[in-house]
Amino acid sequence: MEDLYGIRGFIIDAPGFGSLRAYRNGALIIERGRIAAIGEYDDVRRSERGPKTRWIDHGPHAAVFPGLIDCHTHLPQYSVVARGQNQLLPWLRESIFPIEREFTGPKAREEAPKFFQELARNGTTTAMIYAAIYEDSCHVGFEAAERSGLRVILGKMMMDLGSYGTLQPKKVLSVSLAESERLCARWHGKAEGRLDYAFSPRFAVTCSEKLMRGAAELARKHGAYLQTHLAENREELEKVHNLYMSAQDYTDVYDKAGLLTPKTMLGHCIHLGTREVETLAARRASVAHCPTSNLFLGSGLMRLNDLQRAGIPVGLGSDVAAGPELNMWQVMRAAIDVQRARTFHDASVPPLRVSEAFYLATAGGARALGKAGAIGTLEVGKEADVTVIDMKAVRPYADTGRRVNEMSKEDVLALCVYRAGPHATLETYVRGKSVYRHPQLASQP
Ligand SMILES: [Zn+2]
Repeated sequence: MEDLYGIRGFIIDAPGFGSLRAYRNGALIIERGRIAAIGEYDDVRRSERGPKTRWIDHGPHAAVFPGLIDCHTHLPQYSVVARGQNQLLPWLRESIFPIEREFTGPKAREEAPKFFQELARNGTTTAMIYAAIYEDSCHVGFEAAERSGLRVILGKMMMDLGSYGTLQPKKVLSVSLAESERLCARWHGKAEGRLDYAFSPRFAVTCSEKLMRGAAELARKHGAYLQTHLAENREELEKVHNLYMSAQDYTDVYDKAGLLTPKTMLGHCIHLGTREVETLAARRASVAHCPTSNLFLGSGLMRLNDLQRAGIPVGLGSDVAAGPELNMWQVMRAAIDVQRARTFHDASVPPLRVSEAFYLATAGGARALGKAGAIGTLEVGKEADVTVIDMKAVRPYADTGRRVNEMSKEDVLALCVYRAGPHATLETYVRGKSVYRHPQLASQP
């Protein structure tokens, strides 16, 4: 694709929590991977200077959004979505550890490229991901991520208690740390900063204090990310309490190990006390809210407004395979449903609006990942991570009724949140480069 081109459509982004911005007959010009101009098509055309722009016109039914951001998911687990009827700990033992154990060698090489293609097909342009415990599972993941063109933060799963690996127990800790550091040295910041490394201790139930401390030190040394799971499920809380009797609470276990930093992403955070929320805010750690997963495993209803009131940056995560889909539109919808369900028992809970859920999956996720300067909204100077939706595939009775540009921005967005998915994705771009095209468009230049 050339260095300079324009995309037309109904452009919508969310610069703030609850605020939407739109250009009804919109256009954006992408120059060398960045947004060079954005606005109403006629205004953008009038201000054009220099070489002639080639226009990509998906027709009057296209809606253009910032690329979606998935703050928490698992590469080796996608093949076993929607499996198991259990809560977290038995589900991990029975459905997940067996499938992660196999994610190495040819199987990992075969599945990893498909996984990133699936993300792009769903309109996701940035994802923070766990690999399996094997060095090659993460290395192969990075190779596939590099080729996919997506923006990826990935790490090798670390666990030294009750692991599914075959290493002698006394070797696990040192091997896990050494392999993780080697992967970080190889991949962190590669592809001109499109790839990042995340040290990834699974959670306190499967990690010794030494491993967590080691992961935190390595992340600090290399300026890399950290990711883990926190307070997802009641049985997990009890286990952590029994393992770490001297800690004040679950969050304190991570705090003492040095795991809570501005580059830390914590999955779930459902069952937290007030002190814990304050600690996360003080350490400037971020949270990945994973509502489809929380409903699937019956983990609980996240108190989103409490975390936000404390100032904690929150993004959304598909948490595949506990979440059944990589489709972030469905994760937004579930986030709305979860807050709605809370209001049935507590009228003081604020509902989560469509525009707010959309913010969490775009600019909010970018902020939670420390990447708000580069992605999350559509503004001049930002990197052009974009997904284009065919509203014909989202609206009922596609060929009748109003044109898309006669609808309100709220209506267009709500239809996407409730009904969009891979069937409706026309094209996805990262840094202005197409990473997915709908098969119907594949024959077009
Ligand atoms: Zn997870």
